[in-house]
Amino acid sequence: MIFVTGGAGYIGSHVVKLLGEKGCDIIVYDNLSRGHREMVTSGEFIVGDISDKDRLLKIFRDHDVDTVIHFAADSLVGESEEDPHRYYSNNVAGGISLLGAMLEAGVKKIVFSSSAAVYGEPERAPIEEDHPTVPTNVYGNTKLIFENILKKYSSTYGLGFVSLRYFNAAGADPEGAIGEDHSPETHLIPLILDVVLGRKKEIVIFGTDYDTPDGTCIRDYIHVNDLAEAHILALKHLENSPASAIYNLGNGKGFSVREVVGAVERVTGAKVSVVEGDRRKGDPARLVASSEKIMRELGWRPAYAGLDVIVKTAWRWHKRRFGGKW
Ligand code: UDP
Repeated sequence: MIFVTGGAGYIGSHVVKLLGEKGCDIIVYDNLSRGHREMVTSGEFIVGDISDKDRLLKIFRDHDVDTVIHFAADSLVGESEEDPHRYYSNNVAGGISLLGAMLEAGVKKIVFSSSAAVYGEPERAPIEEDHPTVPTNVYGNTKLIFENILKKYSSTYGLGFVSLRYFNAAGADPEGAIGEDHSPETHLIPLILDVVLGRKKEIVIFGTDYDTPDGTCIRDYIHVNDLAEAHILALKHLENSPASAIYNLGNGKGFSVREVVGAVERVTGAKVSVVEGDRRKGDPARLVASSEKIMRELGWRPAYAGLDVIVKTAWRWHKRRFGGKW
């Protein structure tokens, strides 16, 4: 039995859908603080918090859980700086509660949702896994702390873990059944799509004086289904090998904010109103992953690597969810 924390969230729900399609037995556990019940398309659903260790222990024992996929976390960089206690409580203390229940119940395998935010200001691009980890915000720090805890628990208690450091997750289920729905929404692609739908007047570009070809920040957008496939490979790896591992997950291609606006205009046929604004605090100019390691070791390949196909799936979902067709 696979136990998925945070399975009602954006990335978690796409992994849950894929696990369901592959016929896996799963329990989805989410406190619905940020997730949505209707995004959970497979498995048994339990509303609960990862801080509730006794409850977790009972579920692990009653359902013969052998593997955990751990998404449940807060993930807004700005909010993490304003309310660090929330982030250390949920992402670190909550994670420790989960690990405590796993140790007690003898659950020995975990796939962890980490983030490119562990690297901080990059010294080089593309970023490989051995790049220094110096997070520049509390959110990134919580992910790094939890990775370090996993490493220690792995060597001390024999826990097997795979930590996946996501770059910019984007797009939606190609069938249009589920997708991204954050409130507040802070991510670039859904915000531009909001402009197309008339839910927002314009998109503000955060900084146009970066040292990049068009002056705007470059990010590595990776389709959420490609992320989901990597979790399946991580599970297979943990079944076959006791070796823990950390992998980047990105396309290896960077796109600037202006290029993303251009892709949305191409895909939707709409003209997007753009305002050039100031830089957002803590934004590195360029964040691009090397995903060579997961390709080499687990055979992962992105199936939706192009920016237009990512935007196309996001648009299909966004129209349906926010354009009055839900
Ligand atoms: N961005 C922007 N305007 C917005 C939101 C985001 O220019 O309204 C930029 C942001 O500065 C970054 C890129 O778009 O360079 C992606 O931002 P997002 O918040 O989606 O993801 P992040 O890279 O922060 O994880």
